[in-house]
Amino acid sequence: MIAPLSPPPIHTHLTAYPSMPIQNPTRLRHVAVIGAGAGGLAAARELQREGHSVVVFERETILGGTWVYDPRTESDPLGSDPTRTIVHGSLYASLRTNLPREVMGFRDYPFVKSTRPGRDPRRYPGHKEVMEYLNDYASEFGLSELVRFETEVLEVGIVDGGKWKVKYGKNGEVDNEVYDAVVVCNGHYTEPRIADIPGIDAWPGKQIHSHNYRVPDPYHNQVVIMIGSAASAVDISRDVSRVAKEVHIASRSIKDGNSTKLPGHDNIWLHPMIENVREEGTVIFQDGNEVRASIILHCTGYKYHFPFLKTNNIVTVDDNRVGPLYKHIFPPALAPWLSFVGLPWKVVPFPLFEFQSKWIAGALSGKFSLPSSEEMMKDVENFYSSMEAAGIPKRYTHNLASYQYEYNDWLAAECKAAPSEEWRKEMYILSSKSKIIRPETYRDEWDDEHLIVQAHEDFQKNLKEAKNLIKG
Ligand code: FAD
Repeated sequence: MIAPLSPPPIHTHLTAYPSMPIQNPTRLRHVAVIGAGAGGLAAARELQREGHSVVVFERETILGGTWVYDPRTESDPLGSDPTRTIVHGSLYASLRTNLPREVMGFRDYPFVKSTRPGRDPRRYPGHKEVMEYLNDYASEFGLSELVRFETEVLEVGIVDGGKWKVKYGKNGEVDNEVYDAVVVCNGHYTEPRIADIPGIDAWPGKQIHSHNYRVPDPYHNQVVIMIGSAASAVDISRDVSRVAKEVHIASRSIKDGNSTKLPGHDNIWLHPMIENVREEGTVIFQDGNEVRASIILHCTGYKYHFPFLKTNNIVTVDDNRVGPLYKHIFPPALAPWLSFVGLPWKVVPFPLFEFQSKWIAGALSGKFSLPSSEEMMKDVENFYSSMEAAGIPKRYTHNLASYQYEYNDWLAAECKAAPSEEWRKEMYILSSKSKIIRPETYRDEWDDEHLIVQAHEDFQKNLKEAKNLIKG
């Protein structure tokens, strides 16, 4: 089916999802949230709803994090020079969401079409629409008022009495404040991971990480090698191929001497991984095929990075494992006073942020009790051992691809909240399949119209219930 009409938007004004403070929270805390991206906003929303006092530190001038399109790129296109000026965002100009809006949005505030002028009504909208949605979310729940913009957290450490000192910089001035708890929501798509390529030091071409990819123009008439095959690599290869002479994708999923042309494209080839590169400009793939190229574009992912966090090595990052963390959120020795929102990847982020944030807010107020730190540590060790036994590398610790909904439902049970809706799970599975079957057109063609109808019925029902709660 091609781009069918979806049901009309269910709310046309911003008072549809009024904030419902939870009655009689047991203990109220003063909490610092680091970052005003989708994760920090969800954390602020749940902490505020629980009754805590919240300050969100945001180093940029506006909220939105990843979803703020920034045309600037970094001085080091590979992003490996630690002294470079950091550009937070990794969005490219042509980016449209890779999830349908019904699945992607917060459960508390569905990502439905807006009737406002200038908004993007598509089911897989462009990045600007996500920014608009996050702004709507923030104004709906009064979150912007909690954010201190242009305020960078420089250091977070434990002080006497188990409190947390937050050292921050604003307008060249440095100051400190003490909080009961800190929630880290600084995002993890800013610090590039680079593929190791034998011979690269002598290779004469340019290298760039996808963090610094914005538009295809600089690739005009070039022979480009792209490493990686995740969602953004697929998008960027198509974007670049519109102007480049040739695009050669090196991917782990292509094995055994299978360099082939990508069906439906005149100038895109698929190859196994790169074996090595030579100083005269040649790139040799593992199947022996060779290409003379001028640019290598690394679409090889990102590293977790917490330059401000000082925990006396209680929390470390080792081969992209942030740990030890109970359920990807709490360091057992510091729970619930230090927590992380948004570490899992290969997930639907916004609803997951909501579940994590609810749990953190309730753990801080004493509404939900956590196991002892020994029990949490045991759970973490068991998790690491099971990964090792299954041969899963450490760097996949926070990859929740195969169990994100079990994870969300586990958190929901801890929070005594409703688990993920069945339509949401099914729609996620179908949209993932669709992405594989029709990578070029999945954003404009689908066959899950029945699930869209169910999603909208659910949104309506929740809205009615929220309104009744307010009235009652
Ligand atoms: P971010 O959005 O990165 O926010 C972190 C915030 O912390 C930033 O505002 C930053 O300025 C601030 N910060 C960092 N350090 C400090 C400090 N020291 N002091 C103060 N502030 C600080 N998700 C989807 O659901 N659908 C998609 O289609 C999708 N596509 C994506 C495409 C790309 C190319 C990328 C990179 C990601 C995509 N994602 C997508 C995932 C996206 O990252 C999440 O949706 C979400 O935006 C992450 O939110 P976050 O709050 O965890 O991090």
